[in-house]
Amino acid sequence: MRLYLATSNKGKVKEIQALFSHHEVIPYSDVLAPFEIEEHGSTFGENAAIKAQAVYKALNDPDALVLADDSGISVACLDGAPGIYSARFAGVNASDRDNVNKLIDLLKEKNVTQSPAYYTAALALCGSFGTSTVHGWMHGHVTTIPQGTGGFGYDPIFIPLGETQTLGELPSSIKAVLSHRGQALRHLEVLMRGMHLLQHLSAP
Ligand code: IMP
Repeated sequence: MRLYLATSNKGKVKEIQALFSHHEVIPYSDVLAPFEIEEHGSTFGENAAIKAQAVYKALNDPDALVLADDSGISVACLDGAPGIYSARFAGVNASDRDNVNKLIDLLKEKNVTQSPAYYTAALALCGSFGTSTVHGWMHGHVTTIPQGTGGFGYDPIFIPLGETQTLGELPSSIKAVLSHRGQALRHLEVLMRGMHLLQHLSAP
């Protein structure tokens, strides 16, 4: 049984592969031409399920398992924005840097140098059984001064609760323990174990 990832986001692929180190995880773009998936859901969970189901259908292999991640950051002083719009906060083709700069500009417009914020990750697993979704969260705050080059997305301006450095500065091993994605993947492992799916996955 092969586990495909319904994402071509390099940051997500790297983190999911690291946490699934005993199993082979295949970015769907390794076997299919990447295609546009319209994320028309109103929650992270709905969008993760939409992505997992679209790739499962395109693979046309009933035995395949497809894992999708929909995630983002919600900032308190911006009333929870960008939330599900995190990837396209500064525009449809915005880079991570564009999105971070837009967030910093909005914080400055509010005359604050930091704000409480949290990341959410929804992971949807789609297979012949249907679709199951799990979530993880990481709380902390965002600042107006980017620090570090690790991680991806908003990591250079996010400081997890209890830490003094951004996720751009902290080692990836710390992010794996603290992160929304790490927590959701640990829930997923329990789910997959309960469904007797883990033992059928191919090794790397
Ligand atoms: P998605 O591909 O629609 O799920 O968008 C996810 C976006 O949320 C990414 O492009 C990042 O901007 C942001 N994001 C999600 N998870 C993380 C993370 O772990 N670190 C930094 N940014 C993240």
